[in-house]
Amino acid sequence: MADPCNLAPYAAHDSTTRGRVHSEKQPRYRSAFQRDRDRIVHSTAFRRLEYKTQVFVNHEGDLYRTRLTHSIEVAQISRSIARTLHLNEDLTEAIALAHDLGHTPFGHAGQDALNRCMKPYGGFEHNLQSLRVVDHLEEKYAQFSGLNLTFESREGILKHCSHTNARLVGDVGERFLNQTQPSLEAQLVNLADQIAYNNHDVDDGLRAGLITTDQLSEIHLFREQYETVVELYPQLNQRRIIHEVVRRMINRLVIDLVESSQNLLATSKPESIDEVRQQAHPLICFSEEQEILNRKLKQFLREKLYRHYRVMRMTIKAERILTELFETFLSEPRLLPDEPYSLTIEQPIAERARVISDYIAGMTDRYALSEHQKIFSPPTPTV
Ligand code: MG
Repeated sequence: MADPCNLAPYAAHDSTTRGRVHSEKQPRYRSAFQRDRDRIVHSTAFRRLEYKTQVFVNHEGDLYRTRLTHSIEVAQISRSIARTLHLNEDLTEAIALAHDLGHTPFGHAGQDALNRCMKPYGGFEHNLQSLRVVDHLEEKYAQFSGLNLTFESREGILKHCSHTNARLVGDVGERFLNQTQPSLEAQLVNLADQIAYNNHDVDDGLRAGLITTDQLSEIHLFREQYETVVELYPQLNQRRIIHEVVRRMINRLVIDLVESSQNLLATSKPESIDEVRQQAHPLICFSEEQEILNRKLKQFLREKLYRHYRVMRMTIKAERILTELFETFLSEPRLLPDEPYSLTIEQPIAERARVISDYIAGMTDRYALSEHQKIFSPPTPTV
């Protein structure tokens, strides 16, 4: 349990939580945020993250990151920073483990395809879907649907939101309309997410042979660490060099984030989480110099990795698979399994589309592939 004596006044405290939608007794030996984290770990959506793509499709290899390992890495980075800044480690862990629960199969390709399909029916945002999972879609508890998480965990999960959707989600949507900030724990996880994916995409991209250390030498963030490691350990094999470089890059980013945030906190001196929320700008941030370097790395990854022809081939396939599944289920809901089907009966088309979107978003990569095959591919005849 985060020791309340170690928490800064501007951290999230159990005693000042804005509570849960359905009120519950405090757990006896855990904090409210530990309970949130535990509910997330025991959810079905969390287990499915193991078989969902980050950049590489799940069956391409056992060594690449999945949404599950990504979420664990985000939690690790978030907790280290939270402890240093005297923020609530339990809350950052809960937010980090839940932040990608709403992701479709096949990463961003899946999200874009589902959003296009859902355009006439309110669209699809993976971030909003993560909130929908913890607020409504998990069905495990006797007294409520969803996980009934605290306001602070839900606030951290919803990191972006359009104005239209912000009006539909109640209290956690208000900050997008009022232009206020979320807790420092939420701000922190958002940046820890970036640290994790930029660095592990470098690692996975190199491992897959889609990018090379030569190409990456254009990028200051990489080159600086690469040159140091090669000079210090000239005999080291390439795999270990890369790991050593990536861990040093993560370390550098974490230190920059901690020190820049400490400076900002020392200047603005918020006295409570509510004062944090009233600030015009986030108080957890990288230095300006680091931001520029980060942007260069992101741009490199966008051009050289995410748009690599081998990744694009999978992207196009993924979009087609999800679009065909959606269109087919919408025009013929009887092809759905019993439970989603029962929710579509006598419903207007927008409601039907939402049930199908929830069903597809919940699929793992391999389940989506197998459903597609069952519906569209003729069986292989045995002679
Ligand atoms: Mg993420």
